[in-house]
Amino acid sequence: MKVSFLAPFLASLAAGVPTPPKNDVVSYDGYKVLRINTHGHPSTIREELSGITYEQWNRDVYKHLDILLSPDQVATVEALDLEYQVMHENLGESIAAESTSRSVWKREVGDLSWYDSYHDYQDHIQYFEDLQKSFPNNSELISSGTSYEGRNIYGLHLWGAGGPGKPAVLYHGNVHAREWITSPVVEYITLQLVTGYNNGDAQTRSFLDKYDFYIVPIVNPDGFAYSHTTDRLWRKNRQPPPKNGNQSCFGRDINRNWEFAWDANPLGASTNPCSQSYKGEAPSDAPETQGLDKLVRQLRDGAGIKLYIDWHSYGQYILSPFGYKETLYAPELGKWTKAAGIVSETIRDSSDARTTFTFGPSGATLYPTTGAAPDHVYSIGRAEFSYTIELRDTGKFGFVLPPELIRPTAEEQWEGQKALLSLLDEEFFDGEGPA
Ligand SMILES: [Zn+2]
Repeated sequence: MKVSFLAPFLASLAAGVPTPPKNDVVSYDGYKVLRINTHGHPSTIREELSGITYEQWNRDVYKHLDILLSPDQVATVEALDLEYQVMHENLGESIAAESTSRSVWKREVGDLSWYDSYHDYQDHIQYFEDLQKSFPNNSELISSGTSYEGRNIYGLHLWGAGGPGKPAVLYHGNVHAREWITSPVVEYITLQLVTGYNNGDAQTRSFLDKYDFYIVPIVNPDGFAYSHTTDRLWRKNRQPPPKNGNQSCFGRDINRNWEFAWDANPLGASTNPCSQSYKGEAPSDAPETQGLDKLVRQLRDGAGIKLYIDWHSYGQYILSPFGYKETLYAPELGKWTKAAGIVSETIRDSSDARTTFTFGPSGATLYPTTGAAPDHVYSIGRAEFSYTIELRDTGKFGFVLPPELIRPTAEEQWEGQKALLSLLDEEFFDGEGPA
């Protein structure tokens, strides 16, 4: 799928987000989210919407355009002759339903009711501290830097027999604050690694005996905290705008801020501080990017990085480098695509919903992104495998995924990771491996 309508996309990103007065909670009461069918002609639909203020949720607009509308725009759009489905009739109500499903979590590591609701930042910290305590001889809490507002970018380092020092598997969750499904998915995989090892599960033991895991579930803690306290749809970090920019527009998109190919393609990110994909003033000028990159380089200079995954939502994609140029194919693309295909197939076969994931090189499958983590961790961090995984769904609920879908989403990803971790050995790709 090829999409080439980036300029209007970036413009629309800048337009629709309500900017609250400081410390006020942003209300989405009466806001509607529509999925408009584009039938392969998104530009025609955009023309029809040209007088409308909206925020676009999706990047894969070939078939549909997911848009957030404020109450005063709804009637105008409904009067247009467009084919659409309603994703959220009243986004404010969907968000309220999401946060009122209170957790009955017992504050114990093995209690799976943790995955029945979403949790705030403090609870996430405690969850990882408890996980560490349940695996005391094979793990340590780590820090991958400090956020702009001074929060610790905490994580866990896990290892198996023979102590630490094996090639690294690095997971990043929640770089985009509103993508709440990503942190519980990363936590669930961590829980499976820890409990599987503790219970003597042979396959899990083989993963930890072969690789050191570095798992950072919330790499954008300021944005994440803000998405809980103030604006459920916040995406970026909370860094102030540059001095010469619009002073009401906060945040850099950490996933457009990495050093590698930061400025390689004008279509890959925005230079407008008000845009959701604002790249920053200079490569790696977000404190979060600096801290994350430091660990990437340490791992590279240690035993190397075997696998990197940056977890996002939504759309159900498994994307490999390169993002910054849609016509550029890395020499390893064949093995990356083969591995992604097996992960996709495993997820589909393991899930009751038969969840399907589209896979391929990022730029060609979706469209260009500059300064994104997977390109950097491959090119600078020399990761052997480097992916973005966009989790559920494909546009029924988008970012505001109901809590009852946390468990199935996490369970299918653990199945996918088991398949992937089993095939990272080079021998698999040398001969006639499974198709
Ligand atoms: Zn994202």
